[in-house]
Amino acid sequence: MIKAEKELRDYFEKMGDYNQAAKMLSLDMSTNMPKEGFERHRRALTRLSGELFAMNTAPKLKALIEELSLPEHYAELSPEMKFSVSLMKREFTENSRIPAELHNDYVSEKALANKKWQEAKKAGDFELFKDQLQKVIDLKKEIIAYKHPNEPVYDALLNECEEGMNTETYDKLFSELKEFLIPFIKEILSKPEPDDSKFNRIYDLNHERKAQEYLLKYIGFDYDRGTTAETEHPFTSAFSSKDVRITNHFHEDTAIRPMFSSIHEGGHAIFGQNVNPAFDGLPAENCRYAGLHESQSRFYENTLGHNINFWKPIYKDIQKIVPEFKDVSLEEFNREINHVRNSFIRTCADEVTYCLHIIIRYELEKEIFVNNVPVSNLRDMWNEKMQEYLGLTPPDDALGILQDMHWANNYYGYFPTYLLGSIYDGMFLEALERDLGDVDKVLSDGRIMDITKWLNEKIHVYGSTRTPRDTITEVCGKEVTAKPLCDYFKKKYTDIYKL
Ligand code: ZN
Repeated sequence: MIKAEKELRDYFEKMGDYNQAAKMLSLDMSTNMPKEGFERHRRALTRLSGELFAMNTAPKLKALIEELSLPEHYAELSPEMKFSVSLMKREFTENSRIPAELHNDYVSEKALANKKWQEAKKAGDFELFKDQLQKVIDLKKEIIAYKHPNEPVYDALLNECEEGMNTETYDKLFSELKEFLIPFIKEILSKPEPDDSKFNRIYDLNHERKAQEYLLKYIGFDYDRGTTAETEHPFTSAFSSKDVRITNHFHEDTAIRPMFSSIHEGGHAIFGQNVNPAFDGLPAENCRYAGLHESQSRFYENTLGHNINFWKPIYKDIQKIVPEFKDVSLEEFNREINHVRNSFIRTCADEVTYCLHIIIRYELEKEIFVNNVPVSNLRDMWNEKMQEYLGLTPPDDALGILQDMHWANNYYGYFPTYLLGSIYDGMFLEALERDLGDVDKVLSDGRIMDITKWLNEKIHVYGSTRTPRDTITEVCGKEVTAKPLCDYFKKKYTDIYKL
């Protein structure tokens, strides 16, 4: 190993340590911080983030990257170092165009946006949030214009979330889906609804916590390299493959929702835990592609978890852990988890109408970033789109535009990656069945670990080193298309709803 490589590895390690501290602060802000601790946390996070930004744009980093980019040195690097050097070279160029003051302003305003959003959500009133949201959106537009001066802002944001994506590709995929889904959902909703009265009851939160532990172990989450905590909104934070944190929210009025959140976050976490350990401390270690990441969480949650065969080997255990399901048969349980209905909240939606929730957000983000619609118009636009696609008008903003944390947390261009993840999943399912045989059989045999192993080998181990497009081509042997997802919906719901 030449001296510059050793120095760059040390530099990455140091950045990784700062990053770990910043991530830990953010995690703590959501899990454990008392209300009055906010200002000090915000200050610390802004300072750390400023230090990281300075390291990201330091001349020393530039010099090391340039040296290792010389063909004779670059050729000698391992694939993960090659990836890390190319990535940092690109990011260095982009980041050094942003004035440091602008960056610090943005970090600080963003923390405030999160706080304002929480208050507004509690009050169910978008008015309390809109000015701060406008402020961070304007700052974000300014930052993107510095980073990607020759690209339309929204295309740049989409590409930052999922490399290779832009409005043109999303428009094509989503219109393919919409064409299929809108009449299909109508047909489903014209059929009799299943009776859900057995599920309307109070659930013991400790039963839900135990079910989470059981399910996470069942799908392959490693408790020696991960822990769980409780937050308002579930999420997963990966520090390294040896330390992945899951959070969840338990509800008294539903045990189903937290169980599926566990499986979803478990999918993210299993990805994080199975990245090649040789990538530890390098920019390659965490998968940075949101669509690919969501494809893994949603594969566990929907493709596997919403399949009755997933539950066949374990439903008796689940009934013991959650005795509230004692008088619910497996068939009734399956009917309820696949109950299609129009609803207000994205994270509670069934897997079919869920697609429309995402399409609404994608179309609104285009309004914000392509058509520059002011934030003060967004609530009305949100409510109109809800009416258009789902036939519902939210009674207040907590059930409407304030429900998601994304816009308050700097995630612009992120929403469409959830649906893209499902589109990938349609394709992954085809590939998995080609390799392992009928998924219903694998699941009903209780061989879920065969599937986890397949995902580990085909996808997880690569971390960030393989782009989403290359992953899809390698694993599925074709370009991204929504057709397999449509076929999956059609087959499954024609059967369940007797269409
Ligand atoms: Zn997710």
